[in-house]
Amino acid sequence: MALIVQKYGGTSMGSVERIQNVARRVAKWHAAGHQVVVVPSAMSGETNRLLGLAKEISPQPDPRELDMLASTGEQASSSLLAMALMSQGVAARSYTGWQVPVRTDSSFTKARIKSIDDERIRADLDSGRVVIVTGFQGVDEEGNITTLGRGGSDTSAVAVAASLKAHECLIFTDVDGVYTTDPRVVPEARRMTVVSFEEMLELASLGSKVLQIRSVEFAGKYRVPVRVLSSLTDPLVPLEEEMASGTLITFEEDQQMEAAVVSGIAFSRDEAKVTLLAVPDTPGVAYSILGPVAAANIDVDMILQNQSVAGTTDFSFTVNRNDFARTLDLLNSQIGPAVGATEIVSDDKVCKVSIVGIGMRSHVGVASLMFRTLSEEGINIQMISTSEIKTSVIINDKYMELAVRALHKAFGLDQDKSQEEQA
Ligand code: ASP
Ligand code: MG
Repeated sequence: MALIVQKYGGTSMGSVERIQNVARRVAKWHAAGHQVVVVPSAMSGETNRLLGLAKEISPQPDPRELDMLASTGEQASSSLLAMALMSQGVAARSYTGWQVPVRTDSSFTKARIKSIDDERIRADLDSGRVVIVTGFQGVDEEGNITTLGRGGSDTSAVAVAASLKAHECLIFTDVDGVYTTDPRVVPEARRMTVVSFEEMLELASLGSKVLQIRSVEFAGKYRVPVRVLSSLTDPLVPLEEEMASGTLITFEEDQQMEAAVVSGIAFSRDEAKVTLLAVPDTPGVAYSILGPVAAANIDVDMILQNQSVAGTTDFSFTVNRNDFARTLDLLNSQIGPAVGATEIVSDDKVCKVSIVGIGMRSHVGVASLMFRTLSEEGINIQMISTSEIKTSVIINDKYMELAVRALHKAFGLDQDKSQEEQA
């Protein structure tokens, strides 16, 4: 008998019929003698619908009230799932975040989980019930309902799995795993059977949208094995088959196979670049530029400062495209004049493409193959940044898909169709 946490995304919970299918799948695990905790998302489209209503009332709705509103989506889907399980003869009980409780800080709309009380959940599991815990929501110290940011039920599930020391956290979704890149861009993309938690963290933060980044951080910190798999298969598929499907996110030392040099290609179109020309190359300039940017709560990603010529240097950085207008305002009105930039140039038609793989630690020439591949496609690289296990470039966004396809192929990630057919 194992304790398993299962998270079901919005599509998986998208209709009464699908909720009944989720119940069938959960019932199968329960009947096999496992203890099951289920963390559902709201039915697909529901969170958007609720947030849309709020926007109709006010362009800047109060964050506390937004959480009060948005959290209802998960409350509805959780209770529906409990009813579906009961109607299939399985004892089940659902809890909101504040009933468990899932304690968070008070950052409404992006709260962080501080602790989860497992007492009630354990008591119910021990009495043979399936326990359903609403995803996405928690409660702060003052008893206010909070939510964990869009996509936050992934984090709820991993956090519940961590607090219960679950055997595995299964993230059921509308894709059958994590792919080497987005199959909508590269049809030859392959599903990975296993990926290290570190690679997944890079992939998630560099643009892969399969899991909320925070859930991957949580899984790493508390060493929760996470499996991403499809909820659209036959709910009664045998357990062994189910446990061998999808993508297992695990720890490097647990990996059997020798890791590929590059495991995946990530990309993000939400990038914008700004450059201050000819700022003095003296101590404190980076701080004078980025200090006010940070104070305005704008996240800076890549930063590039050139060798100085005649005591001045060009200073570039990238921000999320949503923050582009604000960043530019700040540079033109305040920072540029303060540091004496001769000009401010900007470009919001850029994207970031990254190669990720733990094999990069022990292989040379990986980045150079990336640069060669891009040069052969005639793609100009505007900025480069590297870490132990990734190399990212900023390029013109009209070349994004071309770059991703070329790199996917160059690093041997395309699936071998001929082998597939033979198999
Ligand atoms: N329902 C929330 C959202 O749409 C949380 C989630 O689905 O993970 O963002
Ligand atoms: Mg999601």
